[in-house]
Amino acid sequence: MAIRPCTRSRRSTGDHVNPIGPRACYDEGKRCAETLFYDYHRQHNVNIRVAMILNTYGPRMHPNDGRVVSTFVVQALQGKPLTVFGDGGQTLSFCYVDDLIDGLMRLMAAPDSASAPVNIGNPGEYTILQIAETVREVVGAKADIRHEPLPTDDPRQRRPDIGRAQSLLGWQPRIQLREDPARTIAYFEDMLANPLSAD
Ligand code: UDP
Repeated sequence: MAIRPCTRSRRSTGDHVNPIGPRACYDEGKRCAETLFYDYHRQHNVNIRVAMILNTYGPRMHPNDGRVVSTFVVQALQGKPLTVFGDGGQTLSFCYVDDLIDGLMRLMAAPDSASAPVNIGNPGEYTILQIAETVREVVGAKADIRHEPLPTDDPRQRRPDIGRAQSLLGWQPRIQLREDPARTIAYFEDMLANPLSAD
């Protein structure tokens, strides 16, 4: 049994892929891997699952991975300005890691006929500015917001359609962004206090 997790779904709203831009090796790499998986499935009868993993957060993220949640939490804990790219109006959906793992396990345990790509993500949609406000509130930080240039090809909207995960796996995320952030914050606090554990 094989599984091909892919970050972000091109079935999410508003996702248009530039094949020659700075994100192309990442975006097209996922598409190419998916194509190869289906070729193996057809030619060699290999049993596959394709999970399209959308933005996920929670304990065990690398504090310097450059993702928006880890970046904002670390900046807030350090009392630094939160770096919002562009006007911060671009949207994102966040899935807590426990929900993601639950979805992946259900997909792996699903019948062999479940070879269609399945979006695993949380459809709750937030702007980057809302994320910055939430992080400041939860961390209790007075950090400023500093606007920086929007990266090339940064998607304006990301929101998964999880209809297939709901019907095929009986799955949907249970934890919303504002619920139970304490574990994530505590994790990053520990990481900053013990930086070697981040390597
Ligand atoms: N972003 C931001 N400030 C940061 C890091 C990211 O405003 O310090 C924005 C970025 O422009 C993008 C969104 O957050 O619109 C999600 O970025 P991330 O890297 O977390 O996810 P990905 O682009 O890989 O889906």
